[in-house]
This record gives sequence, structure tokens and C-alpha cells, in this order.
Amino acid sequence: MKIAIDGPAGAGKSTVARKLAQQLGFVYIDTGAMYRALTWKVLQNKIDPENVEALYELANNIRIHFEYHSGQQKILCDGEDLTAAIRLPEVSALVSTVASHPAIRKIMVKQQQEMARNVSVVMDGRDIGECVLPDAEYKFYLTANIEERTHRRAAELSDSGFTIDYETISQEIIQRDKSDSEREVGSLKILAESIVIDSSNLTIEQVLQKMLAIIQGE
Ligand code: C5P
Repeated sequence: MKIAIDGPAGAGKSTVARKLAQQLGFVYIDTGAMYRALTWKVLQNKIDPENVEALYELANNIRIHFEYHSGQQKILCDGEDLTAAIRLPEVSALVSTVASHPAIRKIMVKQQQEMARNVSVVMDGRDIGECVLPDAEYKFYLTANIEERTHRRAAELSDSGFTIDYETISQEIIQRDKSDSEREVGSLKILAESIVIDSSNLTIEQVLQKMLAIIQGE
């Protein structure tokens, strides 16, 4: 079975997707982490994020994979653990630009489809229902209002030791959503078949129960 969870930044997709996968015994694939890992490499190699040829070369030559250690998911790129690095504010600021190029998305989508081959998965991102898993049995679109999403992102960043003011976080989210929604290929959108869940007034547990009820046909 394939389950797609798309939605804007900070809607709680990764937390819910991880828990849903745990409950169902499925593999969880965080596609945002893959675009972030590529962006970290772009920064490290000082590549111009508009230089599509250089980006293409990089994306084609790095190996991104996930590992699981006592329930924790780690993302590795060419053997290097990037789990913490991909959450840095400079990565968040650039990732949408890197992800905007159709040639780069093609490489990433192919890798994501390979990861999902022959296994049951919960995958979260922006274009999962439309491009990566068009045949997914369930396509959720998880959203929340901007205030709630900013609060959640601020709490997450603070847990990781970053103190960034509320307004900066809010602007970053608005900017990233705009760029993710306006790009030509793989844009963030609600599909005709999307099951929309607004989590503004719901806890993670309530969102999880809603999804489980739908999947289990209750
Ligand atoms: O999910 P997360 O917020 O970590 O994703 C980071 C960025 O990666 C998004 O803002 C978007 O630009 C890009 N992304 C994407 N397609 C996906 C997943 C993420 O373009 N399937």
C-alpha cells in the first residue's frame, strides 16, 4: 500500500507520517529531507543554486539514503550523517530554489519511486500524490493556518537549539510555500482526489486517528 501526505511547510506532515508508518508497519520516506540533503551539498560545494548543470551533476553523483537506529530515522549522503545539518536555517532558506528545477526534481522523483518499489510506504512532501506516487491508495493534504505552522516550526527550532524570531520564521514559511506552489513542475496543490485535513485545531494524535480511521475504513 502507498500513502501520500502532501502539504505546506510546518503542517506537521513528517511527525504524522512517521507515526502513521510506525502504526501500520510501513516504511516512512521524508522526501523533504532528500531535497534538504541535496541543498546542504549545494552549500558545502558552493554551487550556484541557479546553475542547473552543476546542480544536475551533483544530484546525479550523490547517494542519499535513510537508516533506522532504535526507531530514529537518519539521513545519510555518501555515508555522512546529515540528519541535523539539513535542519539548519540556511538550508531551509535555499531548499525551495534548489527544488524548483524540473531536471533536479526528475532525479529525486525517480529515486523516491525506487525507494517505494515493492514496499508499503508512507511518503510525505509536496508532489507525492501527483508525481511520485500517482497510484497511491490514499492521498492526504495536511494543512494548518500560518500562525499555527509558525508556532510549530518555532518550537521545533527551539528544541534544536535555534532561537529565531517569530516574524522571521513566518516570512520564511510564507516565502517557501509561495515558491513551492508557483513552480512549474511538482508544485504544491490540492488534487481532486486529495483528502484534506486541517490540523490547526487538532493534536498530532487526533490527526493520526483521523487518518487511521479513513485507511481502516471506520
Ligand atoms: O518537507 P520540508 O519542509 O522539509 O521540505 C523542504 C523543501 O523541500 C520544501 O519547501 C520544498 O521546496 C522541497 N520539497 C519538494 N518536494 C517534495 C518535498 C520537499 O520540492 N516532495
